[in-house]
Amino acid sequence: MRISTPRVSTIDGISTVTADVESVNYTGELWFRMPEGIHPSQTAAADAVFPFGLILSMSTDQKLELEAPVSSVLLANSDLVQKIFSTWYPDTMELTQVNCQERVAEPTGQLAARGAMSTFTGGVDSFYTLSHAPGITDLLYVNGYDLPLDKVELWDLVRQSLSDAAADIGKRLFIVETNLKRDFLHNRQAWGRISYGACITSVAHLLSEQVSDFHLAGSHTYLELYPRGSHALLDPLWSTDRLRVHHHGADMTRVKKTLALIDDPVAQKHLRVCLRRTDRINCGRCEKCYRTKTTLLLAGVLDKFQVFDQTVNPSVIAAREVKNEATFSFLLEMRDFAKSKGNAEIEKALSTAIKRYQKHESDAEPLAALETAKRNVAAANAEVATANAQTTVALQRAQAAEKELARLRSSRSWRWTAPLRKVKARSRAKQVSA
Ligand SMILES: [Zn+2]
Repeated sequence: MRISTPRVSTIDGISTVTADVESVNYTGELWFRMPEGIHPSQTAAADAVFPFGLILSMSTDQKLELEAPVSSVLLANSDLVQKIFSTWYPDTMELTQVNCQERVAEPTGQLAARGAMSTFTGGVDSFYTLSHAPGITDLLYVNGYDLPLDKVELWDLVRQSLSDAAADIGKRLFIVETNLKRDFLHNRQAWGRISYGACITSVAHLLSEQVSDFHLAGSHTYLELYPRGSHALLDPLWSTDRLRVHHHGADMTRVKKTLALIDDPVAQKHLRVCLRRTDRINCGRCEKCYRTKTTLLLAGVLDKFQVFDQTVNPSVIAAREVKNEATFSFLLEMRDFAKSKGNAEIEKALSTAIKRYQKHESDAEPLAALETAKRNVAAANAEVATANAQTTVALQRAQAAEKELARLRSSRSWRWTAPLRKVKARSRAKQVSA
């Protein structure tokens, strides 16, 4: 894939960064609409297209061509980024060739003078990071990522809630809008598992005149480092000489992060964990809503959080289908918490959901082994077919060589030079006996 030099244009104080992208998924104009008064430099815009560009090319054509020079730090780290992704997902993420010039690092003194920014969706991880990461001055929300651009009414609600929360906390909120996810990403670049960290960091680079540090709020602890698009191993590798990128909050479980915000009046008013696209900030029914409501109920503070309906039904918890090990780890944490609070009913409901997931996993294990064995047989067959084809070619070459030998031996020149060869053979025999 190919990305042109980004262009920065400003109309009525609003800057838009655009670039032409030619990719396997989609060819067209990528845009980022910046908050009023924020005008990214060419340097910032050039770094911004690198993280998502690398992810896209790894999952499509394995070739990334960038017209504008990119930070030498980012380029140097990109080898390791590629190795991590290709180890996690060998079937979908392949090593890619990067063709672009490197930009020489700026004097290091420039990094010190600016602020620190964290991701802010209004969720538990966001609230934890904005108050625990060092020196957070600014918050970043990207419209077009967790909410699609066409959800206009819900977006009005969410924007109001995020803006009010930021104003109450006393931090500046940057809202950037982009068509990156809608127009250039595909199921292949699975948002949660692969691309969201790179896509958010791309936007953070656009704000590297405003901040020198960027913290991604992590969802899992250092004990549960599942392959995810944002990861303790990966996030710092998106740093440049202008912006240090950090993965924050992996030393704290979800339950503990929730407990850290129960007395925070801003969180009580604005906590937003739901990713469903309903007409409310929190639907109250999805896995994330229910998980958070249950923790707040166990802590005895659910009634303080009017952003949720107040129903927690143990039979709903028990019937919850857990889809992956990341969500499963939250159930384990919550069961321990329910036990510590002496709530036997919720503990039992959580245990039911936990056992069902464990059974599903143990049933799935022999099937997975069967699938692996099938893939190994197919790979071995392919190797045999290749070896057979190579043998056929070698046999054909040997036959052709034999034919050529026979032709030479029966040729006139071979017969005419026979006496000369006899003389040569005799003199060689003499040399040996002497
Ligand atoms: Zn929900």
